[in-house]
Amino acid sequence: MSEKIAVFDTTLRDGEQAAGTRLGSREKLLIAAQLAKLQVDVIEAGYPASSPEDFESVQLIAREIAGPAICALSRAVPGDIEACGKALAKAARPRIHTGIGASDIHIAGKFQDERYGATLGEKKATVLRMAIDAVKLAREYADDVEFYAEDAGRADLAYLLEMIEAAIDSGATVVNIPDTTGYTVPEQYGCLIKTLRERVPNIARAVVSVHCHDDLGMAVANTLAGVLNGARQVEGTINGIGERAGNAALEEVVMALRTRADYFGVHTGVDTRELHRTSRLVSDMLGIVVPPNKAVVGANAFSHSSGIHVDGFLKERTTYEILRPEDVGIQESRVVLTARTGRHGLSDRLRKLGYTLTQQELNQIYPRFLVVADKKQEVFDEDLIAILHDQIHPVPELYHLEYLHINSGTSAIPTATVRLRIKDAMREGAAIGDGPVDAVCKAIAAVTGTSARLERYEIRAVTSGTEAMGEVSVQVEEEGRKVVGRGASTDVIEASARAYIDGLNKLANFRRSRPR
Ligand code: MN
Repeated sequence: MSEKIAVFDTTLRDGEQAAGTRLGSREKLLIAAQLAKLQVDVIEAGYPASSPEDFESVQLIAREIAGPAICALSRAVPGDIEACGKALAKAARPRIHTGIGASDIHIAGKFQDERYGATLGEKKATVLRMAIDAVKLAREYADDVEFYAEDAGRADLAYLLEMIEAAIDSGATVVNIPDTTGYTVPEQYGCLIKTLRERVPNIARAVVSVHCHDDLGMAVANTLAGVLNGARQVEGTINGIGERAGNAALEEVVMALRTRADYFGVHTGVDTRELHRTSRLVSDMLGIVVPPNKAVVGANAFSHSSGIHVDGFLKERTTYEILRPEDVGIQESRVVLTARTGRHGLSDRLRKLGYTLTQQELNQIYPRFLVVADKKQEVFDEDLIAILHDQIHPVPELYHLEYLHINSGTSAIPTATVRLRIKDAMREGAAIGDGPVDAVCKAIAAVTGTSARLERYEIRAVTSGTEAMGEVSVQVEEEGRKVVGRGASTDVIEASARAYIDGLNKLANFRRSRPR
């Protein structure tokens, strides 16, 4: 029998933390629900002590999501751990993830204050004591405690072994050996895991977990090297998002273990047919586009183009295909619906795509669907998902787009007129700009009087052809808070306006929930 590898998803913690964008708790809940459908073993939902919003998100996910263990992160300080304990109080299977810097670089750099000791040796003794105290305190709140030895990839080996042994003695059930800086190479990281398993006397009492970063492009390779050497939990994020160059991409790790089960001899509990949908949701919610050549979930991951490859593939697909698109949940694009499709047909198709909508959500999305179907004639599955992600779970709308008019051309100064409904009043404004998108954003800024800055603007076509739906994602920033706004339409100017207004609504929602 092959052994099971636990899959620990940290998209909502390590991933979101790096995106530079704060998700609302409802968006996080939507992603967590999808991760539960994907059947990961652990969802790291956030870092409760970092902000009241993060605390609320973890609390909400702990209460609502069944299936995976729900985990929260803390530093090795009592306040952090207590916040985890409180946020996870309603979880069926809570896990507290606590830990501390393990490398000399981290210890000397982060614990400079004299109270941690005068010499590096004294500081290391203090840090070891803090690690022990943290695990013991965490065990008062949860039976399942994961300990991380931060920057283990660059740590002094003897000290790391001592720290891991002490953490397990203090009650850690999982020990995480992060390559926080993405410094190691596969053979070396594998060897580190092997050494740990050979030399930490109580190691059999805990699961060894691997957490790798992609600074040198080796996060997935290092993760797999860890598994080969006895790690039984892998940590990573969907699409590999995360600090700097990102974390190990979970979809790649999972598909490597599955496709090469002959070599690794292990399995995961992940329902791989949910991978593509999960990737799409995370990309949409965070506004981080997946490169077309990205392994497993990229748009071109399954397309063959050179003559020799296409010829071979058509004769026998296994000549050039080691993964089957249907195994990761990619179905062939088909024309599925037209403007004559009724509500029932729409909800039926959405259910087949894996989305079960409430009547209210269906009522919300149907008029948008009709508008798109009218303009486009043929609606593809991807279009439906774009409409859905654009339309469901919006924050309360302070600003609503009523009307938009653009005058633009090669010899005209781009001019935009917009009318917004703000609460119950209608307000109009106009602006000129460098181009029609710039003009429309300036007109919206004038009408709303916003001080938010538009920091990033991205557009992509949902399907092919000039009549394709365009999907726009923007990042807007106000007083240090960044959010992603999204909009979809067959008209890219309208999609841009919707995305910008969506971002402003999210900022307004944060202002309302946190009165200053
Ligand atoms: Mn990390």
